[in-house]
Amino acid sequence: MIIRKTPEEIEQMKAAGSVAKAALRHVGSMVRPGVSTLELDQVAESFIRIHGAEPTFKGYGGFPASICASVNEQVVHGIPSPDRILQEGDIVSIDVGATKDGWVGDNAWTFYVGEPSREAKELCEVTHDCLRAAIKQAVPGNRIGDVGAACQELAERHGFGVLRDYVGHGVGHEMHEDPNVPNYGRHGRGVRLEAGMVIAIEPMICAGSYRVRVSPNGWTVSTADGKLAAHYENTIAITEEGPVILTADDEGPWCAMEGGAA
Ligand code: MG
Repeated sequence: MIIRKTPEEIEQMKAAGSVAKAALRHVGSMVRPGVSTLELDQVAESFIRIHGAEPTFKGYGGFPASICASVNEQVVHGIPSPDRILQEGDIVSIDVGATKDGWVGDNAWTFYVGEPSREAKELCEVTHDCLRAAIKQAVPGNRIGDVGAACQELAERHGFGVLRDYVGHGVGHEMHEDPNVPNYGRHGRGVRLEAGMVIAIEPMICAGSYRVRVSPNGWTVSTADGKLAAHYENTIAITEEGPVILTADDEGPWCAMEGGAA
């Protein structure tokens, strides 16, 4: 069941989105060689709590941490660890959710650790462009397939793979609501978008094949071919005035973050 939000509720959701974005930006500023992904997790958790919110991911389905930190060939759901030390040239996808006043904000960004390879940079820039292209389609009257198709067309034009096994989702009081929001699809197909729907659009793009495997830990999703993957996400409200990015902060949603693709 798709739960549409009133304009007042969408306004309320901005508080959660703002904390999620600020936490992501803050964690991103700490990404550098020598830092462990557990350190990033601890920073994120205290940042979120200081700002009067709860880390949505912690305990969600038994997930043990406040962020997902997915390095290189890891696509999503990487578990922060003191043993995973970021190395020069890595890319790390950080996904963070914040719950404030009963509403959820969910966002992700792939950061560069030091200087990225040319391949990594292209993958990240294209994935971020996929997010932008998909968001532009999030308007009343369009369909979910228009969102996915915009992402898929751009990624595949660059020879990249679009994950099939994991998709975006509705957001509200729960992190995962209806509808599913695939990053692939066909124009004019799927659920019709209406004002008041709030969705997380989150392209997960692979440098090679979209096939993935899940780690024995039950969480970490990696590319089957071991090639790099990138992940960018925003929580979007669909309104008559167009898509509104709820995971924005005072610096605006599209500012370059340190170490990330602009
Ligand atoms: Mg999400």
